[in-house]
Amino acid sequence: MPELPEVETVVRELREEICGDIISSVEIFRSNPIVQGDLDTFQEQLCGRKFMDVKRRAKYLIFDLEPKRYLVAHLRMTGKFIVSEPLLEPTKHNRVWFNLESGRQMIFDDIRCFGTLEVYDDLADSKSLQKLGIEPLSKAMTLGYFIKNLGSSKREIKSVMLDQKIIAGLGNIYVSEILFRSRINPQRSTGSINKKEWSLIIKYTKYILQEAIKNNGTTISDFRRVDDKTGAFQQFLQVYDKKGMPCTECGTPIQRIVQQQRSTFFCPECQR
Ligand SMILES: [Zn+2]
Repeated sequence: MPELPEVETVVRELREEICGDIISSVEIFRSNPIVQGDLDTFQEQLCGRKFMDVKRRAKYLIFDLEPKRYLVAHLRMTGKFIVSEPLLEPTKHNRVWFNLESGRQMIFDDIRCFGTLEVYDDLADSKSLQKLGIEPLSKAMTLGYFIKNLGSSKREIKSVMLDQKIIAGLGNIYVSEILFRSRINPQRSTGSINKKEWSLIIKYTKYILQEAIKNNGTTISDFRRVDDKTGAFQQFLQVYDKKGMPCTECGTPIQRIVQQQRSTFFCPECQR
């Protein structure tokens, strides 16, 4: 699933590709569950509007349109945006074509169809955006925030870091990597984490996300950039998907455990 660095990569690339272009028509090949509500309304809401900016909030893409309106997209498992010269026929997993006045197309493609597209006149009306926690690369990511909100929590640190209501944008890959760099066992309760350890978590969260953005995200299986190329951060992963391989720090085999039905990878020696 795309996480913050992958979505940020797509947002930056889309901004370059489509800003200033106008949606001339919208073709929908498979709506449910991608487009919420009525299809005709969805098309009417978007046709004739100009892309002014593309932004990111957590794992959501927010397209600013003019006259004022917002298209909010979530890629979920396998959603991707591709900008290309117009296709003659939709390929198997194309869900929506946004035909642009420049003659190009922005294609929303989604193999598993969990991705969503929503239209708002006011972003305050989006319930999903309202529920999100702090942005990990923002100034809100402070020691004080964690001590105040999680200082006495019994929840496991791994689950807390995946909780979008607390920190928004992280997923399984980056949380495994951040906890490895911070040398913290993913099963520890957040209440047991001291100030020095929280500082390490904050430091490595920012560091790893920034490095991953520099490398255009991580491609393990499905993630693609808008030109259909892969990201490159997978070559810097130290624990994620490395079960049985020697830890880069101490040589102990990396372990895989399941927490909340999701794989966690860690070094039992380095992460205490
Ligand atoms: Zn180790």
